[in-house]
Amino acid sequence: MQNNTAPMASNGFDALNLINPLCRAVNDEEYTSPTPIQMQAVPYLLEGRDLLGCAQTGTGKTAAFALPILQRLKENHQPAVKKRVRSLILTPTRELAVQISESFAIYGRYLNLKQTVIFGGVRPEKQIKALRHGVDILIATPGRLLDLYNQKCLKLDKVEVFVLDEADRMLDMGFLPDVKKIRSYITHHTQTMLFSATMPVEIRHLTKSFLKDPVKIEVSPPSSTVDKIDQRVLFVDRENKSALLLSMLEDSSIERVLVFARTKHGANRIVRNLNKSKIKADAIHGNKSQSARLDALNKFKTGKVRVLVATDIASRGIDVDDITHVINYELPNEPESYVHRIGRTARAGAAGIALSLCDLGELGYLRKIERVINKSVIMEEDHLYHSNSVASKRGRSMHSKTKSPQRKRFYGSRTSAGKNKRAVSKRKNASHGRPRRGSSRRSRI
Ligand code: AMP
Repeated sequence: MQNNTAPMASNGFDALNLINPLCRAVNDEEYTSPTPIQMQAVPYLLEGRDLLGCAQTGTGKTAAFALPILQRLKENHQPAVKKRVRSLILTPTRELAVQISESFAIYGRYLNLKQTVIFGGVRPEKQIKALRHGVDILIATPGRLLDLYNQKCLKLDKVEVFVLDEADRMLDMGFLPDVKKIRSYITHHTQTMLFSATMPVEIRHLTKSFLKDPVKIEVSPPSSTVDKIDQRVLFVDRENKSALLLSMLEDSSIERVLVFARTKHGANRIVRNLNKSKIKADAIHGNKSQSARLDALNKFKTGKVRVLVATDIASRGIDVDDITHVINYELPNEPESYVHRIGRTARAGAAGIALSLCDLGELGYLRKIERVINKSVIMEEDHLYHSNSVASKRGRSMHSKTKSPQRKRFYGSRTSAGKNKRAVSKRKNASHGRPRRGSSRRSRI
């Protein structure tokens, strides 16, 4: 039995005029007030406006679109029609599709709406069955959506709401042709929402062809990084990167860490090296089967594996509790990827640490990143493999920071584990807050 009229304990969500089943769901999640993107976007979305929303990583964009969609679908209830889809949310990765589907299930738990998620890499039979009688909410990756559309397993002519999550990725060269095709199949008058934390100017103009008289919301400048992420760059010679990573991982304050590599093979190599040194690590990348990908992510989420080594396939949207550190073993060649990678920590108001290993060949990437995030990343030279020669070629930096007298070695110990432990406890007592809470389809990632 649903109860749309039962009185609710008042909380900061009252101002959003959400129906009671949604207020109850956010209460269950212990959300006390809407985040800025939710506060600003939800009223317009409830009015039916198209919207381009930019907000930093981990600041609640999913609920910003999920809550008004759920409300609209509930208030405008429609009887089930075979194969019909009422709202369509596209995402660039399978893992993100699953996560968004879980969020819809949480926020919509008192609404009794039908939803399903479809993505590639798994057998389609169950997905086809779930679509047979129509769904209110479909979360999908573009490739599998088109496959099933072409097999006439679903209809898009009655889509009322269309969302591109990670919109700049969905509109870049890899996905754009598929996304345009999908958009052309949606013939009904549709409310369209585009969300991301980054929006390169060359993509921004493409958004115009998807949106009608949109509201534009920028909670913070696109590509800005969350203040609570303590970002550092460690200059190192290429041949010492592996040893540096090992010494960093000796630090037990690095409790749950996502290590990013640029390629699938690079990620595998890192895992092999770590395993050789008895550090339990798993990899997630595009060469793994879907079940291996989900398995690696689950082990990481549940704390069975402390170190997850990933390509950029895991850089966007993935929301794992308590990632204390992100380590860029290699800097990404696209600066926006840096923003998304480090945004896997410090989510929902928590704090986190992002450490980037930078060799001579990557100085150009670092410069591009700093230009996009509009700040310099602090140099951390207090480690075993600091390379003066790389550091000296960095050029002038607004915030480059040399060793401060009161700080001890940041990572690793030259001699004994005991010394290392002391360094660790000093670090724990230092200023860093701990996190609060628990297609080109054959790409290099
Ligand atoms: P998202 O950016 O949508 O991935 O959300 C990041 C994290 O913030 C998720 O773990 C959400 O559960 C959480 N979250 C979303 N909205 C709120 C809110 N209003 N208050 C507290 N946490 C929230």
